[in-house]
Amino acid sequence: MKRIAILGSTGSIGTQALEVIKANPEHFELEVITAHSNADLLIAQALAFKPNAVVIAREDLYEQVQDALQHENIKVYAGTNALCSVVEMGDIDMVLTAMVGYAGLLPTIRAIKAGKQIALANKETLVVAGQLITELARAHGVNIYPVDSEHSAIFQCLAGEFHNPIEKIILTASGGPFRGRTAEELRHVTKAQALKHPNWDMGAKITIDSASLMNKGLEVIEAKWLFGLRNEQIEVVVHPQSIVHSLVQFEDGSLKAQLGLPDMKLPIQYALGYPNRLKSDYPRFSFMDYPQLTFEQPDLKTFRNLQLAYDAMEKGGNMPCILNAANEVAVSAFLKDKIGFLQMSDILESCLAKVAYIAHPSYDDYVDTDREARAAAATVTDK
Ligand code: NDP
Ligand code: MG
Repeated sequence: MKRIAILGSTGSIGTQALEVIKANPEHFELEVITAHSNADLLIAQALAFKPNAVVIAREDLYEQVQDALQHENIKVYAGTNALCSVVEMGDIDMVLTAMVGYAGLLPTIRAIKAGKQIALANKETLVVAGQLITELARAHGVNIYPVDSEHSAIFQCLAGEFHNPIEKIILTASGGPFRGRTAEELRHVTKAQALKHPNWDMGAKITIDSASLMNKGLEVIEAKWLFGLRNEQIEVVVHPQSIVHSLVQFEDGSLKAQLGLPDMKLPIQYALGYPNRLKSDYPRFSFMDYPQLTFEQPDLKTFRNLQLAYDAMEKGGNMPCILNAANEVAVSAFLKDKIGFLQMSDILESCLAKVAYIAHPSYDDYVDTDREARAAAATVTDK
């Protein structure tokens, strides 16, 4: 029995993780669930799964959740501090970080310090502070199991290969809804178009990141830290069908790939159940349904965010933290129709140039950098 806490249980990853837990009651016990503002769904989940504790990040919603659960044996907490302390509870074995954005950083740090195994969906945490997180995990004997489908694919390809050095990895990218478009065409795309991902049904932020290829940029940096790679070992190839989830090339030239239908329940289940593959009845892949699997170069000139992510990774230090903060502000402004699609890259570029570079940031430096970069980005979005 693994005892699980889910940070962000009301989101796309969170709700799918609950499906996995529900389908495998002999393997998992749900201890904690948390949400930001979706109190109704959090309450419904609590009543269905009876965890030990729930946290609603927005403190003004505490009473609503408390009232609804008062006859249950479930502790109710509110606020961001509670989010951080709840992951330290003694009866948790593994924390699934399925919150979105920089907000996941501190709870993840606290969970690692408390010795909890991490199933990591919240890629922004590794983008912002990959070095700090991986060093902390090593110091506390904590494993970080990837949930992101590409990283799960690589992790699966590495099973039984841990003594064999990696020559390079190839992350696949669907290319998103705007694959093949020119910059001029991108200037006029709408929020509704950007939110229509061809293969995956995900939260709004990562869906916009997928349309701009920012998501792949974040994943390149995520992969660097998860697998201890040098920058030049990480390649991206566009694969519109999203069947080959990623590949590893070893020093003998052999390539291993992991394939499957695009269904996040598979990587979620692999991370939660590791090292076991749990039996499932999810739909199976058939080559007859996909007679053609195709691959092409990403267009780094049109989709500048991927190039900006490579550049930020190359410079290192707090650059990926600046990139992430500026991107969170830019995506949020795009989702509010305040800026156009291409302006998101403009904002990233100007913030990367404006905010002071720190080669070896401490935790406090990351906090300051995040704040400064958000302020710099807001001068554009709030004009
Ligand atoms: P969603 O937007 O669907 O869900 C986000 C979850 O986090 C919700 O439960 C939300 O609560 C909660 N949340 C948001 N902001 C805060 C905050 N400030 N404090 C506390 N809780 C918060 O996102 P996804 O599930 O799509 O993505 C989650 C993470 O997983 C992201 O980092 C994403 O990049 C990554 N990921 C997602 C994939 C996917 O298929 N969706 C694939 C690979 C990675 P509420 O509902 O109350 O707002
Ligand atoms: Mg992914």
